[in-house]
Amino acid sequence: MNTPLDSFTLSRRDLLFASLAGATIFPWISRAQPKPAAKPGRTEPGLRVKNIIRTAVKVPYRTVPARNMARELPHWKYIEVFEVELASGHVGFGETLLHYTFRSTQDENVAFAKGKNAASIMWDDELGAGLQMALFDAVARAMDVPVHALLGKQVHKDTPVGWWDIDLPPEDVAAEARTAADNGYLAFKTKGRPWFDIWEQAKKGDAVAPEGFSIAFDYNNTLLDAKRGIPILKDVEKYAITKIVETPIAQDNVPDGVEIKKHTRAKVAHHYGWPQALIALRNPICDGFVIGGGASRVMRQGTVAAMADMPFWLQIVGSSITAAWSLHFGAVHSHATWPAVNCHQLYTHTLLNRPIVVKQGRTPIPDGPGLGFELDHKQLKELAIPKPPTRPNPPRLLETRWPDGKKMYVANGGVNFMLKLFMKDNGYPYFEPGVTTALLYDDGSKDWKDLYARAKQKPVFSKA
Ligand SMILES: [Mg+2]
Repeated sequence: MNTPLDSFTLSRRDLLFASLAGATIFPWISRAQPKPAAKPGRTEPGLRVKNIIRTAVKVPYRTVPARNMARELPHWKYIEVFEVELASGHVGFGETLLHYTFRSTQDENVAFAKGKNAASIMWDDELGAGLQMALFDAVARAMDVPVHALLGKQVHKDTPVGWWDIDLPPEDVAAEARTAADNGYLAFKTKGRPWFDIWEQAKKGDAVAPEGFSIAFDYNNTLLDAKRGIPILKDVEKYAITKIVETPIAQDNVPDGVEIKKHTRAKVAHHYGWPQALIALRNPICDGFVIGGGASRVMRQGTVAAMADMPFWLQIVGSSITAAWSLHFGAVHSHATWPAVNCHQLYTHTLLNRPIVVKQGRTPIPDGPGLGFELDHKQLKELAIPKPPTRPNPPRLLETRWPDGKKMYVANGGVNFMLKLFMKDNGYPYFEPGVTTALLYDDGSKDWKDLYARAKQKPVFSKA
């Protein structure tokens, strides 16, 4: 195709003349001249944040997660979706799990972002999960690149993604392992807790797990020390499902951590940064990390892990919106080789135009613009609620029963109110076969109310 410049041979004098004459005589040459005062980015009007729309939604849990999240985590259903519109017309979206995130986006973050160049502020983790994600998505769309192109060089074409549940009774461990496997997953992370029978959890999970499927128990410190924890870890790792175990004891208990590594076979995963990464790298207390947070933190920590040749899993938690965001970090982190924990399988809705598909435990990295997925406004409209002013914390009473007839009642309080009792050696009962826990249904009776009032003060024990 002929362009005007093909038809002419221009001397320097012509060019000078053209630049002085401007568009009137040689309009094509005028267009080709760089803008003299351009400051790339800062003056680019297209990237200016023009508008931010926030929508609070309540996303239901699937049946099995619903009855288990009801104990300590009913508040994960509340999500805020952010849509950031740029002056160019590109719209990016993101989300904050309102009561479980490294940081939720506040009104002042939204006020700060308005009118700013989105590219100049998107790396600021202080803006909170939802706004940061939406800024990245918007900028990537405006640049016509996938989000991962803004994060670094793509080193993986697909990335491992795992299934997740909070603590479950043994039959639910089995049910969820089967559902995960049926949906293409090869890894499932759930919890090991002193109020469930860990031996039965492992046995029932293993019984339904297909070849190569792993179930990782995260103990959140509750094995307390090496002496008591090692026999349990060894029992659980007799099953083929055991490949990784997470935070068996307080991660900064280095001597006991070393003992655990010495006497057990499964890989040990630790949350990055506790104790300091240097201590975790100098002492044989873990084989890899759990990495999450905002974009800057995830890139920083993932780089340290790569430098130390330590694998990790990305733990960036939310609905499928967050899972989509996480895929882009999986694309650029060489050592994100353990299955990501995004928890989006909890929900009945994806909030996206298409689901995140897992095959053989892996998901392809999206290569469309931005997150590579579209927001489903129909779902958003269906699930929209007024944003709750505080964390919804309905009255709940948890009943734990031991085989000898002993019972314990714990009432809801702060986040992880039950777990917090058992994370340190507070003299509460340790792991035992046959123990189980369930919500004690509020039948409206005086008995329930009385018991609840007592348990609000401190856990109530009743003997057989
Ligand atoms: Mg953990």
